[in-house]
Amino acid sequence: MTVTPTDRALRVIARCRDIATYTEVPGETTRRFLTRPMHTVHALLRSCMEIAGMTVHVDAIGNLRGLFPGAAPESPRLLIGSHLDTVPNAGAFDGILGVVLGVAIVEELRGQHLPFAIEVIGFSEEEGVRFSKPFLGSLALVGKLEEETLTRTDESGLNLRQAIEAYGLDPKQLPAAVLPDDTFAYIEFHIEQGPVLESDDASLGIVEALVGQTRMELIFAGHANHAGTTPMHLRHDAMSAAAEWIVAVEDYASSNSDLVATIGKVHASPGAGNVIAGHVTASLDVRHANDNVRNTAVSAILKDAKAAADRRGVQITSQIQLEQPAVPLDPHLTSLLDKAAAQAGFPSRRMTSGAGHDAMILAPIVPSTMLFLRSPGGLSHHPDETVLPQDVEAALATAMEFLTQLRDDRRNLKDGHA
Ligand SMILES: [Zn+2]
Repeated sequence: MTVTPTDRALRVIARCRDIATYTEVPGETTRRFLTRPMHTVHALLRSCMEIAGMTVHVDAIGNLRGLFPGAAPESPRLLIGSHLDTVPNAGAFDGILGVVLGVAIVEELRGQHLPFAIEVIGFSEEEGVRFSKPFLGSLALVGKLEEETLTRTDESGLNLRQAIEAYGLDPKQLPAAVLPDDTFAYIEFHIEQGPVLESDDASLGIVEALVGQTRMELIFAGHANHAGTTPMHLRHDAMSAAAEWIVAVEDYASSNSDLVATIGKVHASPGAGNVIAGHVTASLDVRHANDNVRNTAVSAILKDAKAAADRRGVQITSQIQLEQPAVPLDPHLTSLLDKAAAQAGFPSRRMTSGAGHDAMILAPIVPSTMLFLRSPGGLSHHPDETVLPQDVEAALATAMEFLTQLRDDRRNLKDGHA
């Protein structure tokens, strides 16, 4: 269906573009965790939140938190969040859009209180740029920020504890940043950062899970030798073994629905045009929302590597570098979100997220769900990253309907009908 973008969607986009101008590097959008421009972003969003009727504070890890109270003092709370930090030379929407949408949702309520409170949270750190560790904001929220992390240093030699103090916050208050027990749900709005919704001509994606991933390094060890004097049948060519394997990986992943497998890095040595490659080191990245499917894939892919190596008398070794299980989102909340999108008149597509998000950290602690907005050109982490006004409108309309679904759902729960 064609939807005319309304003023509220254009206002959300304008706000994101305005926030993108608060940067460490003039002329681009680079805003790392707890840097000077983050103060300005906090000030700007704080004033929007306060005008909308929220009580605002910045917790000890630098998360901006605005609370719009529920109708009763004891109301449980719904959390709406995403992140305010960016990668270097970023676009204007990754993370920020989710926070600005959260504020816009409360603005849409026009002071009308629901049977639950809404806390909008702008996570201080998700990208992992400054301290080479992602999700610092959401980890603090779930009480999983380890003491060791506070001693990590940035490129200027400042450690995390010092960075918190330099921002005007008190690391001793970190325990107070932990999510209150009255939180019953978390929802995150985020751009898809991929081409799936665009290729399906869909505005919105209902995220069912964040995929798990395995990262490995494989070494093919053959024999380096003269490219001119060694006949083909007497070679132990590590490059040919790796090449056959790489094509097999692509074939395997292509024939398994939703599986992605990537060899993004290959290094051959000795690395001369007239020498048969003796050693090839290759990366492997395998992702799927079902851990069994991923594990089966990794075994099959390793078997293919061995077969390609054996045929050439090449030895093979492999090492796991990362093993991250999939994070399923809450099926009930996710189906409410699906219903909300349909009710609001926007057909949506169920999908998984190939990237990590704050929802991944929240989901094991509190029932969580995510809504993706189409990424034009599938582009993200790039200055040209954008979002369509009609998709922002679709997300806002879905969000308002989601609040209604949630209200009715909780009422049914209380009445014992659910
Ligand atoms: Zn993001």
